[in-house]
This record gives sequence, structure tokens and C-alpha cells, in this order.
Amino acid sequence: MAGLSERIRALVRDDIAALAPYDPSFTPCAINLSANENTYGMPDAVREALASALAQAPTNRYPDPMAGDLRDQIAQWHGVPRGSVCVGNGGDELLFNFFLAFGGPGRRLLDCPPTFTVYDIYSRMVGTEVLRCWRDRETFGLDMGALLPMAARADMVIVTSPNNPTGNVIAPADAARICEACPGMVMIDEAYVEFADGDSSCEPLLQDHDNLVILHTYSKAFCLAGVRVGYVLAAPDVIDVLAAVRQPYSVDVLAQESARVVTAMRDEFLPTIARIRDERERLARGLAAIDGVRVWPSQGNFLLVRMSQAGIVRARLRDERSILVRDFSAAPGLQDCLRVTVGTPEENDELLDAIAELCKEAS
Ligand code: PMP
Repeated sequence: MAGLSERIRALVRDDIAALAPYDPSFTPCAINLSANENTYGMPDAVREALASALAQAPTNRYPDPMAGDLRDQIAQWHGVPRGSVCVGNGGDELLFNFFLAFGGPGRRLLDCPPTFTVYDIYSRMVGTEVLRCWRDRETFGLDMGALLPMAARADMVIVTSPNNPTGNVIAPADAARICEACPGMVMIDEAYVEFADGDSSCEPLLQDHDNLVILHTYSKAFCLAGVRVGYVLAAPDVIDVLAAVRQPYSVDVLAQESARVVTAMRDEFLPTIARIRDERERLARGLAAIDGVRVWPSQGNFLLVRMSQAGIVRARLRDERSILVRDFSAAPGLQDCLRVTVGTPEENDELLDAIAELCKEAS
């Protein structure tokens, strides 16, 4: 952290003083394709149901700590017992609680970068050592030959599927091999799984692997990024552990109500999810057709692209076109890469147009 006074610097833990806060690099822009949100917005029928549910929410009372009704709905949806579900204030809170409970001094996380950087930040917050099994430099696939022996030495493994920001999914058979190799806990972060091909989820493995945790969020496919609700599925005793470390009222009354409405009406989101998948392929083809742009295949609602001077392109998109995308050009393994969220057809057209023009000018 920059700018700490000497007095506060002396009071804070050394490892915390060394942290930099997570920075989503947000600038208000007309077109925001930077945070992998669902830019199509809430379907009308769901918006109406939400308005009436929220109007009646008892905000004078504390929320149900474990969100029993929502938990039951999620359990039914996924075909698991209620004891296998824990909700949280976004996936982020559940990730932090996972680190709090299963990480800590003397323990090791196996991380598979380039990936979601929050894992690295949380492991440092709770003093967990990080082992890194780098993804293939060209394809960003997992190196299972290197990964399995490392998993055998780890207390926790996290694999993101689809991976943010590269879009790869892990084959469930490979996830099973990791669960078997690792003596500790294995999390498959499926924040974007709704955008992936139908058989991508590792959820069926829960039946045979008591060290597996599947993370889900309502932030992406289900348009609740601003509300903050996520959940994990795991064996009941793993859920008991997560329940013991959570802040009791972290998922508030409005968030529980919102997630209940969305869960009950989840099929309303299917047309938009299908649209985003189609647009992802169209956007990928459009980007790949631009001279000097490389695009990786993705199973998420985002695409990783490489072009020369990516940092400058990102700044010009923001400043001259009011289009915000995420800059990864300085991240290890992602030189000259940007991540673009798949938007509406109009947003994608504007993005394609702008990148084509900026790349032409640069050549
Ligand atoms: N996992 C991954 C891979 C993500 O990209 C994100 C959000 N960027 C999260 C988890 C957490 O999402 P949320 O806290 O909004 O549920």
C-alpha cells in the first residue's frame, strides 16, 4: 500500500501492508465491456417480479443468516440436499471464507495463472503460500502433467472453468484427477459456467469427491452483479465449515429476495444466454478478421484478444470511443492482451468498428 503514515505502517501486519487493493480499473463509459457483466440487463418479467418482491421485503428485520428459503431453492435446482449449499455476498465472499477456513500460515494454494487474481490476493491476506502451475503459453490449457504432482503437495487447489480471462474449461475427468491427487480441498470456480457448453460443469463429481467445492454466482448470467449473491455446492461437512467462518448477515434481505426471484424465474434468462453465446462467436470471428488481432476460443461471456500496443488501444477505446475493456497487457503471460466482455449486438458492432480502425491507424 502506498502512502501509509509511519505510525500506521508500524501498526499493520507486514504482509497486509504489502498488499495492493483489487482495482477493477473502472472509468464511466457509454459502453462498458470490462467486468464480464450481462449487458443485456434483466428480462422485463423478472424486473417486474423483483420490484414487487423487493417492495414487500421486511427490511426492519435481520435476514435469515443461512438464507434458508433461497438455499432450498438452490438445492432443488441443482438436485443436492440443502446441507450442500452455502450462500454468500457474491462469489468473492465465499472465496474469502474458503481461504479463511482452509488456507492460512503453513498452508499452500495451487493456483493456475493466468487466472482470476483475487485468489492470489486472498491467499496473501490469510498468509497462504501460493504454488503456481502456469497454463500453456499458447493455448492457456492446463498442464496436467505438471499440475497433478503439485496438487499432491497443496492444501487447496483452485481451477476456474471457464477460466477468467482466457476462456478455457477443464474437462470434468481432469477435475476428478485433481480431486484424487490433492490431499486438500479443490475448488472449481464456475462463475461463468452458464455460458459454456452443456456438459462442462464439474458438479456431477460432487457425488464421489468430498473435497470438491463448486462456486457459482448470480453476477454474470443472472444480472445480479450489483446485488452480490453467490453460492457454493459441496459436501455437508465442508458447508458446515464455511458456515462457521461466515459473517452471519452478509447476504441481506434485499439480496436474498432478489436471488429467490431470479432462481424461480431462471428460465427467463436462457434466451439471453443463448444470444450471448452466439454473439461471442460472431465477435470472435469479427475480431479475428482484423489484421494483427489474435483471439482465443472462449466458453465464457468474454474473449481474450492480443494485438500490438494493446494498452494504447485500450486507452484510446476509452478516451475516444467511450468503450471500456479490461487491460491485461502488463499481466504475466498476457502481454499485449485485452479482455472484452461480449455485449449486445450494437455494443459488439461498435467495438469491432473501433478496434478495426485503431489497428489500421497503428499499422
Ligand atoms: N470467480 C471469477 C472467475 C470471477 O471472474 C468473479 C467476478 N469477476 C468471481 C468469481 C466473483 O464474482 P462475484 O463476487 O460477483 O460473485
